[in-house]
This record gives sequence, structure tokens and C-alpha cells, in this order.
Amino acid sequence: MPVPTDLLSALFTQIQNVIDANAEAVTELDQAIGDGDHVYNLQRGLQALQEQIPNLSTLEWQAALQKIGMTLMSTVGGASGSLYGTLFISMSKNLGVRPLDSTSLADIFAAGVESMKQRGKADVGEKTMLDVLIPVAQYLQSHSAQPLNELLPAMESVALQGVEATRDMLATKGRASFLGERSRGCIDAGAQTAQLMLSAIADVLSKESTVGRLG
Ligand code: ADP
Ligand code: MG
Repeated sequence: MPVPTDLLSALFTQIQNVIDANAEAVTELDQAIGDGDHVYNLQRGLQALQEQIPNLSTLEWQAALQKIGMTLMSTVGGASGSLYGTLFISMSKNLGVRPLDSTSLADIFAAGVESMKQRGKADVGEKTMLDVLIPVAQYLQSHSAQPLNELLPAMESVALQGVEATRDMLATKGRASFLGERSRGCIDAGAQTAQLMLSAIADVLSKESTVGRLG
């Protein structure tokens, strides 16, 4: 069965809206300890994904996830482009021939985040997007017997805790690590956008019309 295009379109649009609405605030965070291009990088990738929708609509999930990953890899740029590209390409590989449902989604997301850890040579506690993505992946995997829509509120609070935890961390990966001790005291921009994108996804998936549409 090809991917449900209206669901993909709703997801991309909601993610774009949430990133656009928070662009200024996140860019301020990124200017404090990064080079200030993170939001723009993501916006460019999200626009490219919107333009891919006609092509994605003809694909099964495995091929669609691969195409999403390749698109992000080639359009986002920076550390986040290679990391999000890796996430989706790994999710595609790990899905194999299984249908996409709550259980397989939790599995492939965890495998994808594991690939990001290897790609970025980073782990939890290094003040990056992984401080949101690793705990969320763990939460989803340990609750994958429950329907996804029931997990969304708790997933959102796990993500928010991850963002807040980056504030006092010392950055040991990426550009912020060049600042050493001066990287403390400010939330990581990549952790913040990971949380914002997850909350946009949760918003769309929690709507009655999209519940159970993944499979
Ligand atoms: P760049 O740092 O190359 O300019 P972006 O600005 O697009 O790339 O993304 C910066 C974000 O990427 C950081 O806020 C951080 O969350 C994340 N990041 C950077 N390096 C790594 C890494 N090695 N592992 C995981 N995440 C990283
Ligand atoms: Mg940057």
C-alpha cells in the first residue's frame, strides 16, 4: 500500500508551521552557541520534502523513508542534515517488509536514533538533539505494546525534559563544543527543534482522523 499522502502532507505542514513560528527564538539559541543557521537549514529541508510529496505518494513506506532521508541529506546541510538523513535512511533499512504500525515504528525509530549516535559519535549528555531523541526512542520502545496515540502526551513531556536538560550541559560535540565551559547555560538549538518537530507530529497523529492511519 503506498504511503497516505494526506497524512504526510499534514505532518510536513505542521512541522513547517511549528518551526516557522519558533524560528526567531531558536535562532537566538543557535546564535548563542552555534553559527545561527540551524533553523534555516531545517526550513530548506522541509520545503524540499513538501516538493517531494507527488513522488513520495507513489512509494511504499520503506522506499518513502529512504527518499525522505536522501532529500534531507542533500538539502538540509550542516551536522543536522547528515544526522536527520541518517535517521530516515536507517529507519527505511530497518523497516524491511514489515507494515508501519506502533510497534514497528518504535523499533525503527530506536534503530534510526542508534545510527545517528554512530554517525555523530555522540550520546546522551553531550548537549545535542540526541538528548531529546534518545529518551523519546527509549520511551516509545518500552511502551510499544500500547497504541501510539496513547503514548503521545507522555512522549511530549519526555522530549521537553530532554530539551531542558541540555541547558546546564557542557557541549562536547558539534560547534558548541568549541566554546567549552561557555556552552553551559543555554538550551541546544538542535534539541529544541527536535522537540518542536516531535510535538508537531504528536499534534497531527493525535487527531482522530489520523489515528490508526500508519498501517
Ligand atoms: P552545524 O552545526 O553543522 O552548523 P546545524 O546548525 O544544522 O549544523 O545543527 C546544529 C545542531 O546539530 C546542534 O544544535 C546539535 O543539536 C546537533 N549536533 C551537532 N553535532 C552533533 C553530533 N556530533 N551529534 C549529534 N548532534 C549534533
Ligand atoms: Mg549551524
